[in-house]
Amino acid sequence: MSQNHQLVEVVLPVPLESTFSYRFIPGEEGGTLVSSGDLVAVPFGRRKKVLGLVLNVSDLDPETKKVDGFVLKNITRVFGPEYRIQDDRLKLARWIASFYALPLGQVVPLFHPPAPGTKARASKIKTIPYPKVDADGLILTDSQRAVVETANQWVRDKKYATMMLHGVTGSGKTEVYLTVIKQALELGRDALFLLPEIALTPQTLSRIQARFGDQVAAIHSGLSAGQRCRVHEAAARGEIKVVVGPRSALFAPLKNIGVIVVDEEHENSYKQDEIPRYHARHAALIRGRENKAVVLLGSATPDLESMHNAIRGLYTHQSLPERLGGQLPPVEIVDMRGVAVPDGFSPVLRDAMDDTLAAGKQIILYFNRRGFARMWQCRDCGEVVECPRCDIGLTYHLRPRRLLCHYCDHTINVPEKCPACGAADFLPSGGGTEKVELNLQALFPDARILRLDHDTTRRRGSHQNILASFARQEADILVGTQMVAKGHHFPGVSLVGVLSADHGLGLPDFRASERSFQLLTQVAGRSGRTGAGRVVFQTYQPEHPVIVAAARHDYGEFLESELPVRKALGYPPYRRLMRLGLSGRTQAVVQEAADQLARAMRTHLEPCGITVMGPAPAVFPRLNDRYRFQILLKGTLNPDNRQWLKECLKNFKDAYRKVDVLHDFDPVSIY
Ligand SMILES: [Zn+2]
Ligand SMILES: [Zn+2]
Repeated sequence: MSQNHQLVEVVLPVPLESTFSYRFIPGEEGGTLVSSGDLVAVPFGRRKKVLGLVLNVSDLDPETKKVDGFVLKNITRVFGPEYRIQDDRLKLARWIASFYALPLGQVVPLFHPPAPGTKARASKIKTIPYPKVDADGLILTDSQRAVVETANQWVRDKKYATMMLHGVTGSGKTEVYLTVIKQALELGRDALFLLPEIALTPQTLSRIQARFGDQVAAIHSGLSAGQRCRVHEAAARGEIKVVVGPRSALFAPLKNIGVIVVDEEHENSYKQDEIPRYHARHAALIRGRENKAVVLLGSATPDLESMHNAIRGLYTHQSLPERLGGQLPPVEIVDMRGVAVPDGFSPVLRDAMDDTLAAGKQIILYFNRRGFARMWQCRDCGEVVECPRCDIGLTYHLRPRRLLCHYCDHTINVPEKCPACGAADFLPSGGGTEKVELNLQALFPDARILRLDHDTTRRRGSHQNILASFARQEADILVGTQMVAKGHHFPGVSLVGVLSADHGLGLPDFRASERSFQLLTQVAGRSGRTGAGRVVFQTYQPEHPVIVAAARHDYGEFLESELPVRKALGYPPYRRLMRLGLSGRTQAVVQEAADQLARAMRTHLEPCGITVMGPAPAVFPRLNDRYRFQILLKGTLNPDNRQWLKECLKNFKDAYRKVDVLHDFDPVSIY
């Protein structure tokens, strides 16, 4: 005898608040039924297969054909118990939806692999090629032991607590994480270990795997769909206990989490810049709370918002003030004003490089612009060749020879004649990493040079290959963009040179100083991990407080100079921010829409203490052939405000079909 049909209410990843009704026909003989929390596949509109989350189930008369006037369609697939979204993960999904003012359905895809149920091919998951590391734990220093004891006590007490672990570069934060995780595992708890980007931190992954072996699985972009499913299913079945990965690893279906590590917690990549725009560091706290877990936020340069929370007593602040087995390298500030350096290298830096190479040591050079020349400019009339889609100067690249837009990837052949005056005399001005590399070859013809930037890492795996090759000391000099500043440990490096330390300071973003301080401190920290090291900052602003504080590795000094500025201007961490970005092909239409939206925001939100700023043209007012405006909100939106905002944006989108609007809570940049 056949069972009753089921009426199933599903949320789908579409920008609508509503749920959708489907029919489920159980199999002939005691086939399983659908229950709330199940992940299912359904037809939706013209699409044959859309994944959704089951919210409610009730009995259905098999004769019923329509619900609310809509013809019922059948659920086509129910995924297994490994894919159910329940308990703490469902609470986290609901929190993200509410906090970031999104429909629940748009949050659900975070909680399952893109193609659930895909079978992995039998081949072993490819590990990242990297020199093997010791599996044994090291002996902890006194400061490390103090931190571990605090965290371990919390884990034993099943206490939800957050630690801001502020440890200078090379102070042994990873060893602390691993020791705390080890105890959690012994107590039968699981662990999540978040890293900004696994491609940039292969050493940390190797260490975790070496320590915990088969209990660990990593999620990263190098996995196939089937491998991702295998990790997901194994986590759900309790076969693995530690999941390592970028922000998406936070949603792994581990059952009983005792520790969540957010390493390099200041990194922007923890914020997703597409829907759903959530911050994994913030979401980690919610998952920690639901699991009564300890959350460890670690950094040498803590995010100002995290540090502010620690100062306010929301987090416990612990520090590792000393570098293991050595000192932080001294930083020399070289004043570049009035120094003629056609190749970009001051005499101080060149001498330091000579000495380093002569001693058989390695060098990292940091220059935060890729390409050969920033501008391709006519010598006769001064015309700068711009991207036709973005109104921004194109960057000259040598290999292959072309002009490239760094914002939309638009490429053109290098013009023979000036488009404005017809002259054939161009001046490539402002350097990039490609030019630095070429100058290096001329200056140090015997040195082996590697370059790490967006252009040399387009192919999958090239990141890791360059880093691994440099770690094996197959090159003398690594030159690159901010990719070289991330958490690598290169024992052979004894000199770091920053070619233009003031580079990021002028950016029109209130976080420009913070980002510069973080980058300079992090890149300086690559020098002298074993033995003596030195660092050279070349700058045109040698007295700038950010450069001075970074040169002293002094986070406290930076904090003291920056917090009063933020407070005076009402920026985070003192007030929250939300950005509304509008774009469209017709400037007047976007402008009018932005005016309307800002007016609605003012009327409704200003009485609640929210400051509405704008609309104003975005920092880049035209990108990819779209005109851009933005509105900024300052202040904390309460749940009613968020609900109102959701409805307001929905009505707005219905009224202005030719204008795209995005909303971003706690944006990491306001471009
Ligand atoms: Zn010209
Ligand atoms: Zn462009």
